[in-house]
Amino acid sequence: MTQVTRLRQPIVVVLGHVDHGKTTLLDKIRGTAVVKKEPGEMTQEVGASFVPSSVIEKVALPLKSIIPVKLEIPGLLFIDTPGHELFSNLRRRGGSVADIAILVVDITEGFQRQTIESLEILKDKKVPFLVAANKIDRIPGWKPMENETFTKSFKSQSASVQRALDNYVYKLVMQLAEQGFNAERFDRVRDFTKYVTIVPVSGKTGEGLPELLALMAGLTQQYLKSRLRVAEGPARGVILEVKEEQGLGHTIDVIIYDGILKRNDTIALGGLNGVIITKIRNILLPAPLQDMRVSKSGYKSIEEISAAAGVKISAPGLEEALAGSPLYVVEKEEKLPEIRKAIEDELSKVRFARNST
Ligand code: GDP
Repeated sequence: MTQVTRLRQPIVVVLGHVDHGKTTLLDKIRGTAVVKKEPGEMTQEVGASFVPSSVIEKVALPLKSIIPVKLEIPGLLFIDTPGHELFSNLRRRGGSVADIAILVVDITEGFQRQTIESLEILKDKKVPFLVAANKIDRIPGWKPMENETFTKSFKSQSASVQRALDNYVYKLVMQLAEQGFNAERFDRVRDFTKYVTIVPVSGKTGEGLPELLALMAGLTQQYLKSRLRVAEGPARGVILEVKEEQGLGHTIDVIIYDGILKRNDTIALGGLNGVIITKIRNILLPAPLQDMRVSKSGYKSIEEISAAAGVKISAPGLEEALAGSPLYVVEKEEKLPEIRKAIEDELSKVRFARNST
């Protein structure tokens, strides 16, 4: 008998050296999601963008024979802000809120200081990652094929351009080996648990994006199943940002990585002067532009949302909330001492981390 397990969307972060193309790649992925989504499907969340499975399946269709993906996850949730500054706020007990990372490397420049720093952080937090070997369109002689699969575009390049790309990929393989990782171009990887996958892409032309999305979805649902199993219990999250919003007062932008968050839930989170306990007034998502019922703030209020998601929460007493703090829904009063302690433990680590840098 096969057991049906529902999986949540993996949380994806993008890391890498400055100017290697993190923002451009994220913009391209977001743009693809908006263009290819089904009517009514939401892609924009707070601090994160959702790429539904329907989009991944459409984009990956030409790869059917190479990367057959039958998606069980509902999609991929990309954290909007790239780089390791934000990544350090995405902590949860025993690791990171991120389920998988894309390490972006300019293929013509190879590893740079922040590439190595990013890799160290991923190692430390045990976050699996793929390498996006970006800017393939800058290889001299490359003939771009807008939004095409890497597989097809590569085949149509001249032999010398193909060789040049392979040399660059080989350099990345060597640089990853220096950092203790076996790596290969995605189509040469036999065992994805032992090798880091390198996907040549261009954030500018969109080439290779189908492979990148298909591999991320395929690998996460295959290898991170137990981590992605949907939990029906009270929500847990992490605070990305604390912001004052006109008409809403102080709000927190939160990534929910587990459970279900409901309006009127009591939540506990870290504050400047200790743990804050408050009751959610509103759970907010960005409103679609055409939605006329939207309040002036540009957000619409929802009743509940399940992980993984990026939402804004308005509640009394959030003035002193701390970015990087965990957030727990307090379902039962008896659980409060335990939750309080968990938050205090986590915050002492955040402070220590801040002081030590
Ligand atoms: P970030 O600092 O890593 O977020 O890098 P950006 O996304 O801001 O990109 C830095 C520069 O590289 C910008 O001028 C981009 O237009 C350019 N760039 C990014 N990706 C590509 C690419 O795939 N091909 C080319 N030719 N340029 C790119």
